[in-house]
Order: sequence, then C-alpha cells, then structure tokens
Amino acid sequence: MVIETNSPEETFELGRQLGQKAKAGEVYTLIGDLGVGKTVLTQGIARGLGIDEPISSPTFTIVQVYESGRIPFYHFDVYRIGDVEEMDEIGFDDYVYGEGLTMIEWANLIEEILPEHYSQITIEKDLERGFDYRRIIIEEI
Ligand code: ADP
Ligand code: MG
Repeated sequence: MVIETNSPEETFELGRQLGQKAKAGEVYTLIGDLGVGKTVLTQGIARGLGIDEPISSPTFTIVQVYESGRIPFYHFDVYRIGDVEEMDEIGFDDYVYGEGLTMIEWANLIEEILPEHYSQITIEKDLERGFDYRRIIIEEI
C-alpha cells in the first residue's frame, strides 16, 4: 500500500488511523531518513491508540512504554544500538511477543532479530514533488 501526504497533518492523520486499527501483538517497523516524519507518524499512531501524553523520540532510552491508551504502546528507536545483544538485555522479545503495539524506528539495524511477520512502513521524500511531499509505503512482511 502506498499513501502520499503533503503536510505533517496528513501524515499524523494516517498514523491516527493506523493506531485506531492496531491490535495487540502487532509490530510496525519504521524506516526513513532523519527529518522525514517518523516521529510525526508515531505521534499520530499514539493518538489513535488513545494516548494523550506527548510522544518524543526515545533516542537515548531505546524503548519508551505508554500504558494510557487502548492497548500498551512500545516505542523503540534503535538508531544508537551497538549490537543486537543489547536488545536482549532490555527484553526486546517480551515487548514484541507481548500484548501491545510495538513500533520500531530504524528497524533495519536489527533485522536479524525481527519477528517473522510485521508491517514495514517506509517514509520517503521526493523533492521534485515539493518540500512537504512524503511517500509512505506499508508492506506486510
Ligand atoms: P524523523 O522522526 O523522521 O526524524 P520528524 O517527524 O521529527 O522526523 O520531523 C519531520 C519534519 O518534517 C517535521 O518538521 C514536519 O513538520 C516536516 N514535514 C513536512 N512535510 C511533512 C509530511 N508530509 N509528513 C511529515 N512531516 C512533514
Ligand atoms: Mg524522530
């Protein structure tokens, strides 16, 4: 599935719809360059799950857990991970095979430990289509 957006509000709205539909145990991965809109989309997903507290990028904590929504939300940012063994130490499997929605930014860095099935979201810019244009690709793996 390919969705095109032309503003942060549209990307947020897409996230909100994904969050409304999300089921416990699902895993989303999120891939895209810095400043492409990963956090905007994640904030929409959180809103769709019914989470009202602010969502920041968990860049220095690897995982941030939000329990105030319809189901738990486990937000990973593995950009600074040294090697995948660090993920074991923080209990990665307990989240991924747990009862919440898991979202992993920069998941391409931990490809070898991803579950067998997940939804892969890729966000791309295309400057020929304008500064605020984003192509958002959702694939079932
Ligand atoms: P990332 O988390 O991928 O590093 P952010 O979500 O923090 O990126 O930032 C995305 C930036 O791009 C924001 O400043 C946002 O306002 C801007 N932006 C412009 N157009 C869009 C769009 N269509 N979708 C998402 N963000 C957009
Ligand atoms: Mg971010």
